[in-house]
Formats: sequence, C-alpha cells, structure tokens
Amino acid sequence: MKAWVVEEQKQITERPLKMKNLPVPEPKEREIRVRVTHCGICRTDLHIAEGDIPLSKKPVIPGHEVVGVVDDVGANAKRFSAGDRVGISWLNSTCGSCKYCTRGDENYCPHIKRTGYDVDGGFAEYVLVHEDYAFDLRNINLASEELAPIMCPGITGHYAFRISEVRPGEKLGMLGFGPTAYYILKVAKSMDIEVYISTRSEEHKRIAKEHGADWVGNLAHEDFPHKVDAFIFFPTAGALVERALQNTVPAGTLVLGAVTMSPITISNYTANLWGRKIKTVYQVRRDYGVEFLKIAERLNVSIDKEIVSFEEVPDAMLRLKEGNIDGMVQVIDFSL
Ligand SMILES: [Zn+2]
Ligand SMILES: [Zn+2]
Repeated sequence: MKAWVVEEQKQITERPLKMKNLPVPEPKEREIRVRVTHCGICRTDLHIAEGDIPLSKKPVIPGHEVVGVVDDVGANAKRFSAGDRVGISWLNSTCGSCKYCTRGDENYCPHIKRTGYDVDGGFAEYVLVHEDYAFDLRNINLASEELAPIMCPGITGHYAFRISEVRPGEKLGMLGFGPTAYYILKVAKSMDIEVYISTRSEEHKRIAKEHGADWVGNLAHEDFPHKVDAFIFFPTAGALVERALQNTVPAGTLVLGAVTMSPITISNYTANLWGRKIKTVYQVRRDYGVEFLKIAERLNVSIDKEIVSFEEVPDAMLRLKEGNIDGMVQVIDFSL
C-alpha cells in the first residue's frame, strides 16, 4: 500500500514526509482493517512531522481523522463486517483495566495509544484499529468528507464545550478561531448561548460572524462586551490567560485547549483568578465522540474544507503551515 511516512522530523519545507510502498497490514485479534477513503490533515500532524512533538515510534504514518470502510477483520472481531463505514480518531486504544479506564476517564489512561503517533495512522491506504475503538458511522447521515474533520476538531470541541459547563442562556467566550472553535460555535448557537470570539485574523472574524458569533474582536485591544460564564482558550500564549480570566465572571470556567503553553502568569489573583475554575482538554475519549456524532448529524454540520489528493499531502501541509488553505480544514480524498 502507499503511505506517507515520517522517518526523520524536519521543517515542512524540507519535506519530512516520504511516500513509501508498504505491505498491507494484517488485522490481529479483535482488530479491523480499514480502507481509508478520507483523512483530515491536522495541525498536530504538522507538529509530528516537524518535531515540535518527539516521535513515539519511528517511522510513523501520521493521520488521525480517518474515515473509511472495513476491508478485513481479525480473529474474534464481530462488531463490523466488510463494507461498513467507520471512523478512527486520535484515541486508538487504551488498556481498559486501569483506574482511569474503569471509571470512564479513558483519556487519562497511561497506556493510551494514539493514531498516527503511537501506531500508524490514516495517511495510508489501509489502517488497523481495535474494533471497540472505531466509531460506527453506518447510520450517521453525513458525508465522509464531513465526518473526517469531526474525528478530531469536532470531538475535541465537544469535549472543551462540555467541560466548560456553559448552559443555555449563558455567555461563552473563545480566543482563537480554528476548526475546533468553529464546531463549538455551531453547537453553542443552536443552544441559545451568546458567543464572543477574539481572533487576530480578519478572515476568521468574518467567518465567525457569518456563522452566528454575537461579537468578534481582539482581546489584545478591547474587552468583551460582557464578562462570560465560560471561556475556551486555544492559543499557546500563556501571557494571554489573565486577559481571558479578566473577561470571565468569578463563577466561570476557563478551558485551555492547547497541548503546550508558554509560561502563564497571574498578576492579580483576587481580581482575575479568585473563584474561577481552570481546566484543560487532555487527549480524547470515545463517549464524547459518540455524543458529538449525533449532535453533528442533528445540526447537519458542515465546515468549509479544502479537498486534497493523496499525492498532494506534503504540499497541502506546507499550505497549512503557511496559513494559506482554502477553507477551515483540509481533507484527503483517496479517490482523487
Ligand atoms: Zn487532530
Ligand atoms: Zn487504562
């Protein structure tokens, strides 16, 4: 099978992804083999290729926003049959027996395996996953190209939204407007939540407004019109965290979505931090994915996307790095 492989991490301009011809993987006990039809390209794939995150295995096939059809099943795999449509997210497997797994917090499992990082992912014609960790897309009435980005920014957005504890009738603020924030905006607006979005990008301000944001601006220069009940924060700039807290009510929750952050300083504890909760998004979990798939289907969620061919992946990632993509996300269509 053809696969894009990272053997050596380097800047995307130096082409860290190499096209390889590899044997089609054989599904083991309770695994399914998925013939990939669509795979989203994520900023995390860029971090893996460039070395912002150390490699967990070498070489590795990136890609964790996979949609495809079951092609073969291993021994005792009974959940799916050949031809069934499934999805694979960042969460490839967990141990199932540690205290986090048994209490329903599988995203904290210390033995977590992540697709396209600890195990090979979807920048390839075929990918393996344990049947219990595949999302059942047989009865989800959305196109596969729409479902691919839901596998990462969609599910992650739902996770952040849930732990923000924002309720109908309340106010939600967001700093940064990428695909994750886009999905949160769509859901929040369907629930009578007032949404304020801070972004530097004029293009993102326009898109946010078009999709129902009640206020768009830039917290670096101005405050929100009102303090919010919940705040979801995407940048890696720790220096901005206190600005977010200043715009959040004392009972409110601040959710940090980043995987890395420059130092966070709080200069005025009593005015800005006292009473607020700070939470972080950590990996992903299946229950949030199953919930979000139903919500996305009900809202008929669609995101502006750049469809790319498999051959085009390194060029597409270069455009992602340069901030020069045509839409909010990129999705590989394997039929092109
Ligand atoms: Zn991702
Ligand atoms: Zn576990």
